[in-house]
Amino acid sequence: MTLLPQTRAIVTGAGRKDGIGWAVAQLFIQNGAQVILLDLDQDSVHREAIEIGALAGIGCDVSDQAAVRDAVDEAEALLGGLDCVVNSAGIVNAARLHQITDTDWHRMIDVNLGGTFNLLQAAIPALTKGINASFVAISSMAAMRGGGLLGSSHYAASKAGILGLVKGAARELGPAKIRVNALAPGIVDTSMTRGKFGPDWEKMLLDQIPLGRFASPEDIAKACLFLASDLSCYMTGVTLDVNGGYFLH
Ligand code: NAP
Repeated sequence: MTLLPQTRAIVTGAGRKDGIGWAVAQLFIQNGAQVILLDLDQDSVHREAIEIGALAGIGCDVSDQAAVRDAVDEAEALLGGLDCVVNSAGIVNAARLHQITDTDWHRMIDVNLGGTFNLLQAAIPALTKGINASFVAISSMAAMRGGGLLGSSHYAASKAGILGLVKGAARELGPAKIRVNALAPGIVDTSMTRGKFGPDWEKMLLDQIPLGRFASPEDIAKACLFLASDLSCYMTGVTLDVNGGYFLH
């Protein structure tokens, strides 16, 4: 059984083969979806789309509202509609509060929170006509615990903002039959985290995770498939923790 038959989807941040967006796109395609990848670099995302079996790859900076509108319009035209958007594009940065520059702050908020807003807003007209329409935002455990690992306060703020945005959007878009949900991954083994902790810190972190390992991108993709599919048809406005039990609240 495939879980996304005839689903037309955009997945952002899908340009790295070891990343969450890539794993989401791959699992969606395996489950019958037609997928368009969005990532920063047009040439590489085009190559990656061919490799993964996506319909196309579109280069787009999610913090650029006009570019996002154009990209969503292009994707909708290529797909012949739109049923699902997953926004996995994001950045992380570790810095003490007093070290965060104005530029750092605005880039973090513009990409992580602004990017989610831009995608959601641009996709509403198409999703309103979609089937089992669903938007999945990738937040983070950092939203709840205030960062403190590889992402600092500005990362935590950007990811916490996503949770408020998702709840407000769920409330507003429910009558239009668009579900809006968030995933809050714990530590995921991608290039964002790999080799960044050092052996002692890594061991300490693993000791604190009841399931005893970091997540794989595929673990996050499976939760995303659940939120995008009919299995979660009565869920909107939720934040789904996918953290191996590391942060229980
Ligand atoms: P990743 O491998 O670094 O993937 C992020 C992707 O987003 C990259 O392909 C990157 O493109 C793209 N991107 C960055 N800025 C962009 C922009 N302005 N416009 C369009 N695309 C942009 O990281 P990941 O681990 O898969 O993370 C995916 C999402 O999960 C992020 O939102 C992250 O905050 C979140 N998350 C990750 C973890 C973790 O432990 N890894 C935990 C919790 C939440 P380039 O490669 O060209 O830079």
